[in-house]
Amino acid sequence: MESINFNERNYKSMNPSTNPTDPNAPKQTALVTGASRGIGRCVALDLAATGRHVCVNYVRNEAAARETLSAIEEAGGSGEIIPFDVADQAQSEAAVKAILEKHGKIEILVNNAGIADDMLMVRMKPETWQRVLDTNLTGFYNVTRLVVKNMIRKQFGRIVNITSTSGQMGQAGQINYSAAKAGLIGATKALSREVSSRNITVNAVSPGFIETEMTEKLPLEKIVETIPMKRAGTPREVASAVTFFCSDQASYITGQILGVNGGIV
Ligand code: NDP
Repeated sequence: MESINFNERNYKSMNPSTNPTDPNAPKQTALVTGASRGIGRCVALDLAATGRHVCVNYVRNEAAARETLSAIEEAGGSGEIIPFDVADQAQSEAAVKAILEKHGKIEILVNNAGIADDMLMVRMKPETWQRVLDTNLTGFYNVTRLVVKNMIRKQFGRIVNITSTSGQMGQAGQINYSAAKAGLIGATKALSREVSSRNITVNAVSPGFIETEMTEKLPLEKIVETIPMKRAGTPREVASAVTFFCSDQASYITGQILGVNGGIV
């Protein structure tokens, strides 16, 4: 069998200007939704530290978004703040259009913005069901549609969706959240099939219990007993998986769901 010589020249021609550590490559633009706090903030910091210009989205908490941007800039990176509600289609599309007008491209999209509003099904009001679906699942559609159009034109893109073990296993008290996150897994797999021939990868990271404001009201001491690794995860551990999917090392990986859950699934 003929052996293939994967020298540096072959490697570069397979992956034109995608390497953010290549000083000749133009800076990639990344959009991270829900980057003012928690996992999204860590993802934004990691992407900026690996040479990307990061658009830091938030919906309410401007001060926290400014803290994310300051941390990016203090570390020598670049970014900007972009407020919009991912659950609102008009706002999302206007924001994406504005980024594309300014930068001409978005190479990396991390659909991270999410909320939980837990209640047993028998007590769940229709608005609680709808709001969680609108943010966690329709938010993906609202933000991704125009971004992916641009990626197809540019023949390059990396999309990472943040799902959850609740979407994989189902969680009592979370029919809304579990349904939205399971939907996101389906959308990840379907979109990857639509666009992978255009050098666009679409993957999902599925965290377990991560220490953020979202989980601060949960009895984490009890929950960790059920986790094989006997501890909650950190936003940094989730961000590492996201940055991996955005790297050249992951250029042939698409349609995958990577668990960062301490062994729960
Ligand atoms: P946090 O509650 O700490 O942060 C949520 C972020 O999402 C904030 O930046 C918030 O902005 C933003 N956000 C919320 N709603 C909207 C909206 N409508 N439009 C734009 N931004 C919005 O959450 P985590 O960091 O814990 O979670 C991040 C993602 O990871 C979510 O998708 C979550 O479902 C998922 N996840 C989290 C797990 C965990 O254990 N923490 C486990 C599994 C998945 P603002 O500050 O302005 O409110």
